[in-house]
Amino acid sequence: MLPVVVVHGGAGHIPKERAESSTSGVCSAARAGYAVLQGGGSSMDAVVEAVTQLENNPRFNAGCGSVLNVKGDVEMDAIVMDGKSLASGAVSAVRNIANPVQLARLVMDKTSHACLTAEGASQFARALGVPEVNQDSLITEYARMRWRNNLQPGANPVESQMGKMGTVGAVAVDSEGNVACATSTGGMLNKMEGRVGDTPCIGSGGYADNQSGAVSTTGHGEAIMKVTLARLILFHMEQGQSAEAASDLGLAYMRSRVEGLGGVITVDPQGQWAARFSSAQMSWAAAQSHTLHYGLYTGEHFTQSIQEPH
Ligand code: ASP
Repeated sequence: MLPVVVVHGGAGHIPKERAESSTSGVCSAARAGYAVLQGGGSSMDAVVEAVTQLENNPRFNAGCGSVLNVKGDVEMDAIVMDGKSLASGAVSAVRNIANPVQLARLVMDKTSHACLTAEGASQFARALGVPEVNQDSLITEYARMRWRNNLQPGANPVESQMGKMGTVGAVAVDSEGNVACATSTGGMLNKMEGRVGDTPCIGSGGYADNQSGAVSTTGHGEAIMKVTLARLILFHMEQGQSAEAASDLGLAYMRSRVEGLGGVITVDPQGQWAARFSSAQMSWAAAQSHTLHYGLYTGEHFTQSIQEPH
């Protein structure tokens, strides 16, 4: 079994001028997660570290850089799940915190619940001393510009966000064969206030089970929820499919059944991994055995690999 960390920076269409920063963002997050495994950390530690980095990177739609809801506010969703015990934690529609993934982990570790939402999640964060941040520190000029454009008469936010998503996620296997997943998002562009997507819903935005593997998803949340995409892929793996074949089957079903597009990263407990998508693009990176693999486009020949120093 080979320890591995795989990350994604969201499915969609990545404009040319943002391709390089997307790629470098996912590569450094995968490296950071892998460094945690090399230091003896668990797969849960590794996915939280990788996703924290991506939340802190304004290039992605999670934490700083989140898209805005129709009122111009940031409401974020996140989930973590531990494949050893099936423990999970999530937050939905949470505001004013820098790292929702860390709050999701606290929900898992410190409560008997699976998900806290909105003001209740904020109260929980305050009680545990998680610093509150000013909403402005989470909003980028790019996010504000897209929000404004989508308020114009005739704009179609659903169309334009299928163009540019940037949810983030990670899956990992550690040296003990434990798998974990984490996913974090600002959600869909110009969403209704209070809209909760697939990300914090167990089995949709992510799932992890040592008996089959771990998945983190991205794409059109309402479609992902209808087919419980993460759990569907693990079901196919339980039936004997590889991580790659199961990911393709899950994405193909979502496309044919509900016309949904998206992307996934998947691992099995042996360290086999896949990064697959039905959207035009998805930035992703995988670190394993001192090699970093990464890509942005569909097709084998678009995957790059570089050796990392030991
Ligand atoms: N799945 C996310 C949501 O619907 C969006 C995304 O993955 O970009 O909230």
